[in-house]
Amino acid sequence: LLSMAKSKFEYVRDFEADDTCLPNCWVVVRLDGRNFHRFSEQHEFKKPNDDRALHLMTKCAQTVMEELEDIAIAYGQSDEYSFVFKKKSRWFKRRASKFMTHVVSQFASSYVFYWKDYFKDQQLLYPPGFDARIVLYPSNQNLKDYLSWRQADCHINNLYNTVFWMLVQRSGLTPVQAQDRLQGTLAGDKNEILFSEFNINYNNEPLMYRKGTVLVWQKVNEVMTKKIKLPKEAEEKEVEVTRTRTKVVPLHCDIIGDQFWEEYPEILAE
Ligand code: ATP
Ligand code: ATP
Ligand code: MG
Ligand code: MG
Ligand code: MG
Ligand code: MG
Ligand code: MG
Repeated sequence: LLSMAKSKFEYVRDFEADDTCLPNCWVVVRLDGRNFHRFSEQHEFKKPNDDRALHLMTKCAQTVMEELEDIAIAYGQSDEYSFVFKKKSRWFKRRASKFMTHVVSQFASSYVFYWKDYFKDQQLLYPPGFDARIVLYPSNQNLKDYLSWRQADCHINNLYNTVFWMLVQRSGLTPVQAQDRLQGTLAGDKNEILFSEFNINYNNEPLMYRKGTVLVWQKVNEVMTKKIKLPKEAEEKEVEVTRTRTKVVPLHCDIIGDQFWEEYPEILAE
């Protein structure tokens, strides 16, 4: 009877849409913090760049890359991170909903799990959320342009925010006054305000703020000591063993030019 009932109900499965990602395309999942304008204020983020928050974001992204399969590279800035699945990935039969939901839920749970390691005595006041979207890029050039677009966005926002918060924090302007002051200014004007009024050379600001964070897989040699017991000796002996591991490493470099892609050809090769 039960098995009859099961087959009677099972047709509902056919209502599920096929969301297989097109073969041979790069699959990009980008997530973004929900209402982090408010979240960053409530948790007293240092403006314009709170290092604790940036490092926590990167820790979560590293966890995503290590826990899930087939992520070739990730790029993050502010409250967002993009993850690029290899174009040949067969993970979960390339189902878009699996890629997207596994990335965003693993990231969100990691954000809460690792919060205290980065924010110490700053309590987490409510559970943060993240949205995600998925985009397919059919060519290597499209993928490079996508990542360039995110890094250019990082640069534009960070230049604006750096001047904006200088005007507020150092010159005592209200946020509205600072916004008015920057209305219609070009990048050169903003650099000039920073230099002439605050003695800041924008190019000397930390790379992490200006370039964001790129996560790549790198072979690293790890030296560890191991206790072994030799058959002929009574005592345990400590020996050094070197192991090559592939680890997720953060970089704060330019990814718009060719140099990065020449240094890491394996990212696009697989
Ligand atoms: P939405 O839900 O639409 O994404 P949002 O408020 O999160 O809304 P975003 O465009 O994503 O809007 O902007 C993220 C906000 O979070 C920015 O206002 C930025 O000031 C703040 N923020 C994110 N990371 C940091 C950080 N490391 N330091 C300081 N502020 C940060
Ligand atoms: P997948 O990642 O494919 O979902 P899975 O191991 O989560 O793999 P499910 O089909 O989702 O597979 O099954 C969930 C498993 O979790 C079951 O095997 C069940 O034994 C266990 N489980 C879930 N909730 C409970 C619970 N409340 N008590 C005991 N076991 C549970
Ligand atoms: Mg947004
Ligand atoms: Mg956001
Ligand atoms: Mg954002
Ligand atoms: Mg289940
Ligand atoms: Mg399950």
